[in-house]
Amino acid sequence: MITLVRRVTAACVLSAALASCAATPQPVRPAPSATTTAPSAPPTLAPGPGGLTPVFKNGSRTHGRTVALTFDADMTADQGARAAAGEHFDNPGLIAALRALKVPTTVFMTGRWAEQYPEQARSLGRDPLFEVANHSYSHYAFTGDCYGLPTVSGDRMRADVERAYAAFRRAGVPDARPYFRFPGGCYDRRALKALTPVGVTAVQWDVVSGDAFATDAEAVTRQVLEGVRPGSVVVMHCTRSAAPTTERVVRTVVPQLRERGFRFVKVSELIGS
Ligand SMILES: [Zn+2]
Repeated sequence: MITLVRRVTAACVLSAALASCAATPQPVRPAPSATTTAPSAPPTLAPGPGGLTPVFKNGSRTHGRTVALTFDADMTADQGARAAAGEHFDNPGLIAALRALKVPTTVFMTGRWAEQYPEQARSLGRDPLFEVANHSYSHYAFTGDCYGLPTVSGDRMRADVERAYAAFRRAGVPDARPYFRFPGGCYDRRALKALTPVGVTAVQWDVVSGDAFATDAEAVTRQVLEGVRPGSVVVMHCTRSAAPTTERVVRTVVPQLRERGFRFVKVSELIGS
């Protein structure tokens, strides 16, 4: 059963560059049933009432101790100059850690990130340990008031998501998943309606790691370990400059959660179960 988050997490850090905090009012209730459209197709949720884009927040609390670590590969459309000046929006050390620890992982990538780091995008897209999902092309907000992010107009929302899929294909990602994470986690009924034709499942989270702009890895680690429950989706970031502690957090959190009996899965497995 999918439930909706209505609380606002106070730990949010406001930024136009990297906003992924729990979140604004979310009045639309998604359909609770998971469906699979074809044997090899990734599972998605059935559309909500009126055909609205369904929203997934966490998996079953009663089907074993599974948890999905998710990483937003953030880069905003206007940050090319900063990348050219040497700012790192990628995090190869984090990816290496996830590989070394053999953690099945879902990466929500912006199209702009895939353009900046096509080899890394392709490598993630072709590694069965990972699945690449959509975090928009521009990392602009899909609602009017979302942590200071620039906004996408209603008539450009669908195109922004489809442009990200096109960027993934150009980078060599063969089968990006039909999962979409709203920049900043901000959405409303209008945004869900605008994305209906794309056929994505919107993916939120129930655990905020707080890694955005964090400098205290132990505090982030504690927040994850205290927040994770069976079926949890944890939001973290794959952006070195704005989330510098994430690799250290992962190296600590993964063995500790395994000791507690948790098994790491991709979002697709949580949705499918
Ligand atoms: Zn983001």
